[in-house]
Amino acid sequence: MLSVEPTRYDVNFTLFGIPVRVHPAFWVVGLLLGFRAGDMRLTAIWIGCLFGSILVHELGHALVARHFGWPPNIILYHFGGLATFQPSWGYTRKRAILISLAGPGAGFVLYGVVQAVNYGLFEAHHDGQVWATKMLFSPPHPPDQPAFIPGVAFAIYQLEWINLFWGLMNLLPVYPLDGGQVCSEVLNARSGRKGMMRTHQVGMVTGAAAALFFVSQDRMFAGLMFAGIAYDNYQKYERLSKYQY
Ligand SMILES: [Zn+2]
Repeated sequence: MLSVEPTRYDVNFTLFGIPVRVHPAFWVVGLLLGFRAGDMRLTAIWIGCLFGSILVHELGHALVARHFGWPPNIILYHFGGLATFQPSWGYTRKRAILISLAGPGAGFVLYGVVQAVNYGLFEAHHDGQVWATKMLFSPPHPPDQPAFIPGVAFAIYQLEWINLFWGLMNLLPVYPLDGGQVCSEVLNARSGRKGMMRTHQVGMVTGAAAALFFVSQDRMFAGLMFAGIAYDNYQKYERLSKYQY
Protein backbone atom coordinates (compact mmCIF):
# COMPACT_ATOMS: atom_id res chain seq x y z
CA MET A 1 0.00 0.00 0.00
CA LEU A 2 1.35 3.38 -1.00
CA SER A 3 1.84 5.98 1.68
CA VAL A 4 -0.47 8.99 1.78
CA GLU A 5 1.86 11.02 3.97
CA PRO A 6 2.18 14.64 2.82
CA THR A 7 4.72 15.12 0.01
CA ARG A 8 6.14 18.25 -1.55
CA TYR A 9 4.20 17.47 -4.73
CA ASP A 10 0.83 17.66 -2.95
CA VAL A 11 -1.71 20.14 -4.25
CA ASN A 12 -3.47 21.85 -1.33
CA PHE A 13 -6.50 24.13 -1.47
CA THR A 14 -9.74 24.77 0.37
CA LEU A 15 -13.21 24.39 -1.10
CA PHE A 16 -16.28 25.71 0.75
CA GLY A 17 -13.93 26.08 3.71
CA ILE A 18 -12.92 22.40 3.61
CA PRO A 19 -9.18 21.62 3.31
CA VAL A 20 -8.43 19.46 0.25
CA ARG A 21 -5.11 17.69 -0.35
CA VAL A 22 -4.32 15.95 -3.63
CA HIS A 23 -1.54 13.39 -3.31
CA PRO A 24 0.59 12.96 -6.49
CA ALA A 25 -0.43 9.27 -6.69
CA PHE A 26 -3.95 10.45 -7.60
CA TRP A 27 -2.70 11.83 -10.94
CA VAL A 28 -0.56 8.77 -11.63
CA VAL A 29 -3.42 6.30 -11.13
CA GLY A 30 -5.79 8.60 -13.09
CA LEU A 31 -3.30 8.59 -15.96
CA LEU A 32 -2.97 4.79 -15.85
CA LEU A 33 -6.75 4.33 -15.87
CA GLY A 34 -7.48 6.77 -18.67
CA PHE A 35 -4.36 6.92 -20.82
CA ARG A 36 -5.16 7.29 -24.50
CA ALA A 37 -2.09 6.81 -26.64
CA GLY A 38 -1.64 9.62 -29.11
CA ASP A 39 -4.39 11.78 -27.69
CA MET A 40 -3.17 13.76 -24.73
CA ARG A 41 -6.19 16.07 -25.04
CA LEU A 42 -8.67 13.28 -24.29
CA THR A 43 -6.38 11.94 -21.57
CA ALA A 44 -6.36 15.40 -19.95
CA ILE A 45 -10.17 15.67 -20.26
CA TRP A 46 -10.51 12.24 -18.63
CA ILE A 47 -8.32 13.24 -15.69
CA GLY A 48 -10.32 16.45 -15.29
CA CYS A 49 -13.58 14.43 -15.23
CA LEU A 50 -12.14 11.98 -12.68
CA PHE A 51 -10.82 14.79 -10.49
CA GLY A 52 -14.11 16.73 -10.58
CA SER A 53 -16.24 13.65 -9.95
CA ILE A 54 -14.23 12.33 -7.01
CA LEU A 55 -14.06 15.82 -5.52
CA VAL A 56 -17.86 16.21 -5.77
CA HIS A 57 -18.34 12.75 -4.20
CA GLU A 58 -16.05 13.56 -1.25
CA LEU A 59 -17.63 17.00 -0.88
CA GLY A 60 -20.97 15.22 -0.45
CA HIS A 61 -19.56 13.28 2.53
CA ALA A 62 -17.66 16.28 3.90
CA LEU A 63 -20.47 18.85 3.73
CA VAL A 64 -22.89 16.56 5.58
CA ALA A 65 -20.22 15.76 8.20
CA ARG A 66 -19.66 19.48 8.70
CA HIS A 67 -23.41 20.00 8.93
CA PHE A 68 -23.35 17.69 11.97
CA GLY A 69 -20.54 19.78 13.48
CA TRP A 70 -17.58 17.52 12.65
CA PRO A 71 -14.89 19.44 10.72
CA PRO A 72 -13.87 17.37 7.67
CA ASN A 73 -10.76 17.02 5.50
CA ILE A 74 -10.63 15.68 1.97
CA ILE A 75 -7.74 13.77 0.46
CA LEU A 76 -7.51 12.51 -3.12
CA TYR A 77 -5.01 9.67 -3.50
CA HIS A 78 -4.27 6.47 -5.42
CA PHE A 79 -7.41 4.77 -4.12
CA GLY A 80 -9.70 7.62 -5.17
CA GLY A 81 -10.83 9.93 -2.42
CA LEU A 82 -11.43 10.01 1.29
CA ALA A 83 -13.36 12.46 3.47
CA THR A 84 -12.18 12.21 7.06
CA PHE A 85 -13.75 13.75 10.16
CA GLN A 86 -13.79 13.17 13.90
CA PRO A 87 -17.31 12.58 15.20
CA SER A 88 -16.47 14.31 18.47
CA TRP A 89 -20.03 14.51 19.79
CA GLY A 90 -23.56 13.74 18.73
CA TYR A 91 -22.59 10.58 16.85
CA THR A 92 -25.58 8.46 15.82
CA ARG A 93 -25.85 5.61 13.35
CA LYS A 94 -28.40 7.58 11.38
CA ARG A 95 -25.93 10.43 10.93
CA ALA A 96 -23.15 8.05 9.93
CA ILE A 97 -25.46 6.47 7.33
CA LEU A 98 -26.46 9.88 5.97
CA ILE A 99 -22.79 10.87 5.59
CA SER A 100 -22.05 7.60 3.75
CA LEU A 101 -24.98 8.08 1.37
CA ALA A 102 -24.14 11.74 0.70
CA GLY A 103 -21.06 10.84 -1.42
CA PRO A 104 -22.86 8.78 -4.07
CA GLY A 105 -25.84 11.15 -3.68
CA ALA A 106 -23.70 14.14 -4.68
CA GLY A 107 -22.44 12.11 -7.66
CA PHE A 108 -26.02 11.36 -8.75
CA VAL A 109 -26.84 15.10 -8.58
CA LEU A 110 -23.80 15.82 -10.78
CA TYR A 111 -24.99 13.06 -13.13
CA GLY A 112 -28.36 14.84 -13.38
CA VAL A 113 -26.68 18.18 -14.16
CA VAL A 114 -24.51 16.55 -16.84
CA GLN A 115 -27.58 14.86 -18.33
CA ALA A 116 -29.33 18.24 -18.51
CA VAL A 117 -26.31 19.81 -20.25
CA ASN A 118 -26.15 16.84 -22.59
CA TYR A 119 -29.80 17.30 -23.47
CA GLY A 120 -29.33 21.01 -24.06
CA LEU A 121 -26.22 20.57 -26.21
CA PHE A 122 -27.01 17.52 -28.27
CA GLU A 123 -30.61 16.52 -28.03
CA ALA A 124 -32.84 19.59 -27.78
CA HIS A 125 -33.16 20.76 -31.37
CA HIS A 126 -34.76 23.95 -32.45
CA ASP A 127 -35.39 24.70 -36.10
CA GLY A 128 -33.13 21.83 -37.01
CA GLN A 129 -30.20 23.31 -35.09
CA VAL A 130 -28.79 22.61 -31.67
CA TRP A 131 -29.97 25.73 -29.90
CA ALA A 132 -27.76 25.48 -26.84
CA THR A 133 -24.72 24.99 -29.04
CA LYS A 134 -25.57 28.20 -30.81
CA MET A 135 -26.33 30.00 -27.60
CA LEU A 136 -23.20 28.98 -25.70
CA PHE A 137 -20.71 28.74 -28.52
CA SER A 138 -21.88 31.05 -31.30
CA PRO A 139 -19.31 31.43 -34.16
CA PRO A 140 -16.33 31.04 -34.84
CA HIS A 141 -17.43 27.36 -35.05
CA PRO A 142 -20.17 26.59 -37.57
CA PRO A 143 -23.04 25.06 -35.58
CA ASP A 144 -23.27 21.86 -37.63
CA GLN A 145 -19.71 20.69 -36.98
CA PRO A 146 -18.20 22.54 -34.06
CA ALA A 147 -14.64 21.56 -33.24
CA PHE A 148 -15.24 21.49 -29.49
CA ILE A 149 -18.01 18.87 -29.66
CA PRO A 150 -15.88 15.68 -29.65
CA GLY A 151 -14.14 16.79 -26.45
CA VAL A 152 -17.41 17.91 -24.84
CA ALA A 153 -19.20 14.72 -25.85
CA PHE A 154 -16.29 12.66 -24.49
CA ALA A 155 -16.36 14.59 -21.19
CA ILE A 156 -20.13 14.16 -20.88
CA TYR A 157 -19.84 10.43 -21.48
CA GLN A 158 -17.06 10.04 -18.90
CA LEU A 159 -18.87 12.17 -16.31
CA GLU A 160 -22.06 10.15 -16.75
CA TRP A 161 -20.15 6.89 -16.53
CA ILE A 162 -18.15 7.81 -13.43
CA ASN A 163 -21.01 9.41 -11.49
CA LEU A 164 -23.74 6.92 -12.28
CA PHE A 165 -21.88 3.63 -12.65
CA TRP A 166 -19.21 4.16 -9.98
CA GLY A 167 -21.85 5.64 -7.67
CA LEU A 168 -24.00 2.52 -7.98
CA MET A 169 -20.96 0.24 -7.49
CA ASN A 170 -20.06 2.20 -4.39
CA LEU A 171 -23.49 1.46 -2.91
CA LEU A 172 -22.99 -2.31 -2.98
CA PRO A 173 -22.81 -3.64 0.60
CA VAL A 174 -19.09 -4.38 0.33
CA TYR A 175 -17.01 -2.97 3.19
CA PRO A 176 -15.29 -0.43 3.09
CA LEU A 177 -17.24 1.03 0.13
CA ASP A 178 -19.99 3.48 1.07
CA GLY A 179 -22.68 0.79 0.81
CA GLY A 180 -20.52 -1.41 3.07
CA GLN A 181 -20.32 1.40 5.63
CA VAL A 182 -24.11 1.64 5.65
CA CYS A 183 -24.28 -2.16 5.95
CA SER A 184 -21.90 -2.13 8.94
CA GLU A 185 -23.96 0.54 10.74
CA VAL A 186 -27.17 -1.46 10.23
CA LEU A 187 -25.63 -4.82 11.23
CA ASN A 188 -23.75 -3.38 14.22
CA ALA A 189 -27.02 -1.94 15.46
CA ARG A 190 -28.78 -5.28 15.02
CA SER A 191 -26.15 -7.84 15.91
CA GLY A 192 -24.06 -6.10 18.53
CA ARG A 193 -20.51 -7.41 18.65
CA LYS A 194 -21.17 -9.84 15.80
CA GLY A 195 -22.08 -6.92 13.54
CA MET A 196 -18.62 -6.54 11.99
CA MET A 197 -18.34 -10.28 11.32
CA ARG A 198 -21.68 -10.21 9.53
CA THR A 199 -20.59 -7.08 7.62
CA HIS A 200 -17.49 -8.90 6.36
CA GLN A 201 -19.54 -11.99 5.47
CA VAL A 202 -21.90 -9.85 3.37
CA GLY A 203 -18.85 -8.04 1.93
CA MET A 204 -17.06 -11.20 0.81
CA VAL A 205 -20.16 -12.79 -0.76
CA THR A 206 -21.32 -9.61 -2.52
CA GLY A 207 -17.76 -8.66 -3.51
CA ALA A 208 -17.08 -12.13 -4.98
CA ALA A 209 -20.39 -12.06 -6.88
CA ALA A 210 -19.56 -8.60 -8.27
CA ALA A 211 -16.06 -9.79 -9.24
CA LEU A 212 -17.50 -12.78 -11.17
CA PHE A 213 -20.06 -10.55 -12.85
CA PHE A 214 -17.46 -8.03 -14.04
CA VAL A 215 -15.01 -10.68 -15.23
CA SER A 216 -17.86 -12.30 -17.21
CA GLN A 217 -18.50 -8.86 -18.77
CA ASP A 218 -14.80 -8.48 -19.70
CA ARG A 219 -14.43 -5.64 -17.21
CA MET A 220 -11.20 -6.90 -15.76
CA PHE A 221 -10.31 -3.81 -13.77
CA ALA A 222 -13.60 -3.73 -11.85
CA GLY A 223 -13.45 -7.54 -11.52
CA LEU A 224 -9.98 -7.46 -9.97
CA MET A 225 -10.91 -4.58 -7.69
CA PHE A 226 -13.94 -6.43 -6.28
CA ALA A 227 -11.97 -9.68 -6.00
CA GLY A 228 -9.37 -7.82 -3.92
CA ILE A 229 -11.98 -6.23 -1.65
CA ALA A 230 -13.81 -9.58 -1.24
CA TYR A 231 -10.53 -11.22 -0.19
CA ASP A 232 -9.86 -8.40 2.24
CA ASN A 233 -13.30 -8.98 3.81
CA TYR A 234 -12.54 -12.69 4.05
CA GLN A 235 -9.26 -11.99 5.89
CA LYS A 236 -10.93 -9.57 8.29
CA TYR A 237 -13.74 -12.05 8.92
CA GLU A 238 -11.22 -14.80 9.72
CA ARG A 239 -9.32 -12.53 12.10
CA LEU A 240 -12.50 -11.50 13.94
CA SER A 241 -13.83 -15.05 14.18
CA LYS A 242 -10.58 -16.11 15.95
CA TYR A 243 -11.11 -13.48 18.62
CA GLN A 244 -14.79 -14.18 19.07
CA TYR A 245 -14.50 -17.82 20.10
ZN1 LIG B 1 -17.65 7.71 -0.62
